[in-house]
Formats: sequence, C-alpha cells, structure tokens
Amino acid sequence: MPDPSVSYLLEKAAAGERLYFEEGLTIYRQAGLLELGMAARAARQLRVPGNIVTYLVDRNINYTNVCVTNCQFCGFYRSPHHPEAYVTSREELSQKIEELIAWGGTRILLQGGHHPDLPLTWYTDLLRWLRETYPTIERDCFSPSEIANMAKLSGLSVREVLNELQDAGLQGLPGSGAEILDDEIRHRFSPKKLKTDSWLSVMREAQTLGLNTSATMVIGFDEQFEHRMRHLQRIRDLQDYSLREHGNGFIAFISWTLQYSELVNLRQNTFKNRYGLTPHDYLRHAAVARLFLDNVLHHQVSWVTQGPKVGQVALEFGLDDFGSTMLEENVVAAATHGTRPCMLEEEIHELIRNAGYVPAKRDTSYGIVRIFDADEMEMEDEVENHEDRSLATAVAGVSTLPAGRGTPGHEPVSAHLP
Ligand code: SF4
Repeated sequence: MPDPSVSYLLEKAAAGERLYFEEGLTIYRQAGLLELGMAARAARQLRVPGNIVTYLVDRNINYTNVCVTNCQFCGFYRSPHHPEAYVTSREELSQKIEELIAWGGTRILLQGGHHPDLPLTWYTDLLRWLRETYPTIERDCFSPSEIANMAKLSGLSVREVLNELQDAGLQGLPGSGAEILDDEIRHRFSPKKLKTDSWLSVMREAQTLGLNTSATMVIGFDEQFEHRMRHLQRIRDLQDYSLREHGNGFIAFISWTLQYSELVNLRQNTFKNRYGLTPHDYLRHAAVARLFLDNVLHHQVSWVTQGPKVGQVALEFGLDDFGSTMLEENVVAAATHGTRPCMLEEEIHELIRNAGYVPAKRDTSYGIVRIFDADEMEMEDEVENHEDRSLATAVAGVSTLPAGRGTPGHEPVSAHLP
C-alpha cells in the first residue's frame, strides 16, 4: 500500500504521476492551500515549462438571447416573445468583428441561447458568410448544448449536425454549458439542459472530427467535493479516449465560480442561499484541476469572473494562460468613442509581468504569436512588484477580495464565458 498521506499525494502529482479518484478527493479535502499551489505550479512546469503566460485577443459574441431552457442561474436569456429578445443581424456582427480586427483580434466565440425556431441552415449560412467575409478570424461557435438543440430541432444526429457545421466553416466548439458534469447537480439548476453524457458525447464527436474543443467547469452550486471530482474524472476519461483514438482532445481547461446577480431567477430555488464561492475556493479548485487533469496541457485563468488580482494569483496555482481580452461592447473607455476590450492587451501584459511572468500573445491552438519579453517592458514599477511575488503574500492579498465580479463595469454571464 502506498503512503496515503496528503504530502505523499501532492509529491506524486507534482512529479507527474496520475492520481486516482480517491487520491484526488483526499487532496481536495485535506491539502493546505499553499501546498496545493506549490504542487500545481510544479505540475505546470512539468507540462508547460518556463515563465511564459499566454493570452488571446478575441471576442465573445452572443448571437441570440432567446432561450427556452430557463436555467435557474442564468440572467442572460429571454423568452422568444420578450421585448428584449434579440437575434444579432449580419450588420451588427460585421461591426463587432471589424472592431475585433481593429484591436488585433484573431478569434470569435459565437454562443447563444437555445432558440426554438432558427433552422440549421441559419447557422450554416452564418458560418459560410463568416468564412467568406472574415477568413482570418477563427470561428469557435456553439456550445454542446446549442449543438444538441440544433440536432433536436433538425431531426439529425449530433454527428450529422457537426458535419454540416464543419463543412460550412466551423473550426471549434466553446466548452461552455458543462457547469457541473453530474446529473444530480444539473437537475437542480437546469433540469431542461442537456445531461452529462450528452455534453460529453457532443465533445467526443467534435474531437473525432478534428474540431478544437475546451473543457469548462463552474463550481458553487452547493455541490460536494465528490461531484467536482466526478466532473474532473469524466473530463480526464474523455481526454484519454480522444488522445488515444485520434490525437485530438481538449486544448485547455477553464473553471470559475458561479456568477449570478439579483436579476437571476433564483427566487424559487431551494439551494440559492448556498450558491456562490470565494477566491479561496476558486484557487483550491484550479490547483486540484491542474494536478488531477494530467492530460490537459493548458489551464486558463478566469479573470473575467474572479477579477484581475485573483487571476494573477492563479498563475501561482498552476495556470499558464490568462484567457482573453474579452472584447465587450458595454465597457467603454472614457478616451474612446467606440468599443474597447474589457481589458487592453497592455493591461494584460502588466498583470502578467507584475505576477513575475512573461506575456505572450497566442492563437486559438496555443501557438505563440509574439512574446513580449523584458526588452519591450515599459512599466515603471516592475521591480517593486516582483518583490511581491511570494505565494504567501499573494494569497494573503486574495483573502480581502470579494468573490467574483472582479471587473468594474462588466456583468458576467456565467453560461457564456469561454
Ligand atoms: S445558460 Fe444558456 S441554456 Fe441556460 S437559460 Fe441561459 S442561455 Fe439558456
């Protein structure tokens, strides 16, 4: 029998050995935050060595807010005849993509609600138009639950729907809609949404076809550690299968804590008083995920939900990617008259450098486009901030931060983040 102590398990995972389910559960329950962080950072160095932290310039476009699935945590959707219901026009899409191009962006994430009336040809026509009009912009579109909705409405199989979309120009699927991949929990907050096996099945088909995919996870539904570990186990199992069978699996893992506001329909939900988590929970989870998901190379910070400061600290917990600038139309800088990114590239550079890492712009496939090394640094307080790099200092700072909603002026929609 191996030594079952927590320190043994952390050393084992940090050295690149696989943890069994019960071992993952043990470190989740018992390991200290700092010890988890150190082990996760070592695991990152094994798989993504070096000091580079990547980011992407992209835009998340929610093409419709019409949805008939009514997830209880979602403040985004509107019923089909609601006065605020919309479907984004080609003109609006053009404007958004041209803004993205002006900001140096390379990808759109196109996601929306479960519209009950849009035929499959609406989606394929849209993809063809995007490919012809903006050939340099990568197209990661439609989460597994949207794909399942298209299959249901069209009467086609998921594979047939994906084939048609891919022929029309689809390059990848966002990983959203996973929340917690455990039906006991899913039934509480979104009983009408696709179940665990269906989410995994859509991703399996997409990976078989060579599409880009990422895995996401939302914690904070009053789930237990066992539920979280089952989610991680299911992602790891699918990744093992997909890498073995066709060498194409999840390119990254991203988790965040449940985001909701008073707009969200939680009034009837028995569990609402137990929803929500802290940055401490987020960091613990991010570290456990890095250690347990030994076959997913890249782990992405969710600064949009946790705030830039927690995002910086997360880099000390095994994460190697700072996500994206998240170009959003509602965040307007005083100095500009149009749309600007939710975070400028220069701001991301500064956050990454102040955390002691080197920023690098990447593409969707995590290929490095440009490294912004020390020669190009323009910050005045680099040295001062480097003195503040210790994990203990960073974590102490986190304890004073509010949970989630870290970006002023930005109202996150948890189901539609990357
Ligand atoms: S999370 Fe997505 S599927 Fe659920 S209600 Fe909101 S838009 Fe619809």
